[in-house]
Amino acid sequence: MAADRILIIEDEKAVARGLEYALQAEGFDVLCAENGTNGLNLARSRNPHLILLDLRLPDISGFDVCRQLRKEGFRQPILMLTALDDPIDKVLGLELGADDYVVKPYNLRELIARIRSLLRRAYGELSKTIQGKVIEFGEITIDLEQLQVFKSGQAVFLTPTEFRILRYLATHPDRPVSRDSLIEAVWGYDSDYGSHRTVDVHIRHLREKLESDPSDPRWLVTVRGMGYMFRS
Ligand code: CA
Repeated sequence: MAADRILIIEDEKAVARGLEYALQAEGFDVLCAENGTNGLNLARSRNPHLILLDLRLPDISGFDVCRQLRKEGFRQPILMLTALDDPIDKVLGLELGADDYVVKPYNLRELIARIRSLLRRAYGELSKTIQGKVIEFGEITIDLEQLQVFKSGQAVFLTPTEFRILRYLATHPDRPVSRDSLIEAVWGYDSDYGSHRTVDVHIRHLREKLESDPSDPRWLVTVRGMGYMFRS
């Protein structure tokens, strides 16, 4: 089986080198870019399974790299590397399409655990647990095997986290789901990554991508005092 390919976009050579060695030791294929432009090019030409993206780069900021890749339909997980004093909060990173972020200086073992968890959630669990299933609601089609969503036959690009939220709601239709249940299903029990606010941000993005009128959703409805529901 081919190794998962990880692209590191990081301009600090010592940091990039350290990450490269550590990830290679874990059996990953590693690509490195020292600025945003090269990072974008490598992401397009080599299609990595996951990107580790430094926020502060000499040319294009990590935010813009992330936003640009999502705009082009890059669906693989993006893990942002930020410094403690960077003007970012988790929600802002998620707004731009990142799946998670880690504050420097990070613990290498924890970083690798998060990488594995993102890869597992994006590729492993979905394809193993539900084989070849397609869910259709009106003009929306969710292909649970190909991890693809279509609206009126057009592919809609979701981040892995958005896809997991949609999958959970759509496979539990017409049932109110609390934000806590969603966090548990999507990020896992012990997670401190998910919060009620991050759930709301992802739901808003899903509505913008899937709903004809995001302010008056047909599918992803709010259940007052409870959470959200996929209304079939
Ligand atoms: Ca940097």
